Amino acid sequence: MQEFQYLMPTKILFGQGVIKKNASLFKEYGKKALIVTGKHSAKKNGSLDDILEVLKRNGIAYSIFDEIEENPSLETVEKGADFGKKEKIDFIIAIGGGSPLDAAKAINLLIANEDSSKEDLYILKPMKTLPRIAVPTTAGTGSETTPYAILTNHQKKTKINIVHKVFFDLALLDPEYMMAMPEAITINTALDALSHLVEGYLTVKANLFSDIWAEKGLNLFSECMDALKKKNFTYLLREKLLLVSTIAGMVIAQTGTSLPHGMGYALTYFHNIAHGRANALLMKAFLEIHPHRERVDRILSCLGLNNLEELGDFLDSLLGEKEKVTKDEIIAYAQDMTFNDLKLKNHPAKVSLEDIYQIYEKSLNLQ
Ligand code: NAP
Ligand code: FE
Repeated sequence: MQEFQYLMPTKILFGQGVIKKNASLFKEYGKKALIVTGKHSAKKNGSLDDILEVLKRNGIAYSIFDEIEENPSLETVEKGADFGKKEKIDFIIAIGGGSPLDAAKAINLLIANEDSSKEDLYILKPMKTLPRIAVPTTAGTGSETTPYAILTNHQKKTKINIVHKVFFDLALLDPEYMMAMPEAITINTALDALSHLVEGYLTVKANLFSDIWAEKGLNLFSECMDALKKKNFTYLLREKLLLVSTIAGMVIAQTGTSLPHGMGYALTYFHNIAHGRANALLMKAFLEIHPHRERVDRILSCLGLNNLEELGDFLDSLLGEKEKVTKDEIIAYAQDMTFNDLKLKNHPAKVSLEDIYQIYEKSLNLQ
C-alpha cells in the first residue's frame, strides 16, 4: 500500500443553534476577537448576530472587518491585517463563504507575524498563527476543514493558494444560516463540493482515509441531486449539503485538487464565472480523459448513476447555458495551465496542451 498521512485537526461542532449552544467555548480563545466577514450576507442570515451575542455574553471585546469580496484579493487581505493589528486582537472568527474564510487564514498569518508582508504568504518559512474559529455560511468550499487559502493576485491575473497551511481550530456548522441563500449560490457552491469529492478521489494523493470520506460524501451528495434539480431547498437538504461540503474539505485537505480547479481559476478571473460553476463546467470533459476508469466508475456508482452521460445530464440541468469564449482565449488559458505544476502533479497522467485545450473546448460555448 502507498505511504500516506492524514491530518485534519479542526474540531467540528454541527447542528442547529450550535453557536449559542456552545457559547462558553469562546472564552478559551482570548479577550478580543477580530471578526472577518463579507459585506452583507452575515448580517442578514443570523450568523453575525449569533456570534455577537455569545461574545457579549462572555465579555469578549471585538472588532469587525467586513470588506471581504468574492475571490478575495491580496490587497483586501493586507487591509484586513492592518486593521486587525491596530485593534490588538487575540483571535479571529471568520464568518461567511469560502472567500471570508480563506481571507481570514491569510489575515491571521499577517497579524500574528507583525513584520510580515503579503509576499511572505508565498514564501515557505515558519510563521506563527493566532487561534481561529470558522462559521461557514455557504455549503461548498469546505474551507473550514482545509488548510488552504486561495487569493486573487491581480498582478498575476489569477488565483493562487498561499504556501502556508492554516487549519481552523474550531468549525461551527449551522445549516440554518443557509436557508435564504439564493438559488445560484446554492447550486454553484454545491457543485464546488461535488468537484472536491470528484477531484480528490482522482488525484495521486488519494488514499484509504480520503477515499472513505469521499465515497461517503458522494453518497450523501446523491441524496441531494433530485432536490437540487427541483430547487427544493429544505432544511434537510441544507443540512446534507453542509455535511457534504465539510466532508469534501476533509478530502481535499489530504488530496488537493487537480485539473478542473486549476483550469477554473482562469474562467473565474477573466469571465467572472463563480468558482463552483467553473469547476462543474469542466467536470465531465475532465472525467472523460481521466486514466483511472475504474475509479471514475466508482464515483458514478456512489452517485447512483449508470454512466458519465447521466452525470453530464445532471450537470447540464443545473448549469443551464454555458458561457461563451473565443478560441484565442482558451488557447491562452490552456497555455497558462501547462505551467500550473501544483495542479498537474496531482493528476496521475501527463496531460498535453491539446488535452487541456480540448477540456476547455468541450466544456464551454466556443464562439
Ligand atoms: P463566497 O465568495 O464566499 O460568497 C459568494 C456570495 O455568497 C457572496 O455574495 C456572499 O455574500 C454570499 N453568501 C455567503 N453566505 C451566504 C448565505 N448564507 N446566504 C446568502 N448569501 C450568502 O463563495 P464561496 O463559493 O463559498 O467561496 C468561494 C471562494 O472560496 C473562492 O475564492 C474559492 O477559490 C475559494 N475556495 C477555497 C477552498 C479552500 O479549500 N480553502 C476550496 C474551494 C474554493 P457576502 O459577500 O455579502 O458575504
Ligand atoms: Fe473549490
